[in-house]
Amino acid sequence: YKPLVAVVGRPNVGKSTLFNAIVKKRISIVEDIPGVTRDRIYFDAEWLGHEFTMIDTGGIEFIDSDSNIFTSMRYQAELAIHEADVILYVVDGKMGIQPQDQEIANILRSSGKPIILVVNKIDSIEQEVNIYEFYSLGLGDPIGVSAVNLMNLGDLLDQVLEYI
Ligand code: GDP
Ligand code: MG
Repeated sequence: YKPLVAVVGRPNVGKSTLFNAIVKKRISIVEDIPGVTRDRIYFDAEWLGHEFTMIDTGGIEFIDSDSNIFTSMRYQAELAIHEADVILYVVDGKMGIQPQDQEIANILRSSGKPIILVVNKIDSIEQEVNIYEFYSLGLGDPIGVSAVNLMNLGDLLDQVLEYI
């Protein structure tokens, strides 16, 4: 048994980029399950000798005509709440808070699971101020990272280790 760390967030916030940066491998398209497309969603990772399994819930997509972004995000959040030991809730520090961010935050908070609020796309020190508005999601201290520039990922993983 390895602890499970789930990555949850709206499309395009950088979940897959963060996932790839943490598992340090390029993930290829491997899933062949009807209704589930695109990314491989489970991968083993390690930080400072501690092993865990990452899940990219954004790799799960529905070919259901009724589904919209919010429905699929709520499903991702519920899957993460059910399966994960720690949830990385990823938001976009360039776009700022979006209407659905609060609703998903509420669902995650009420689960009682450990949640780390990850403000991605903080690509430079000057952009660090963009993290503050995310305090309003009520998930505690946000951590700013850049999945592309690999900034602050060590601090993020140190926080993950506190929960697993
Ligand atoms: P996902 O839909 O949440 O999995 O998002 P992706 O990982 O596919 O990334 C969506 C877009 O955001 C891509 O164009 C990425 O290159 C870009 N992106 C991801 N992380 C960062 C980041 O840290 N900084 C910036 N500037 N762009 C990023
Ligand atoms: Mg993705």
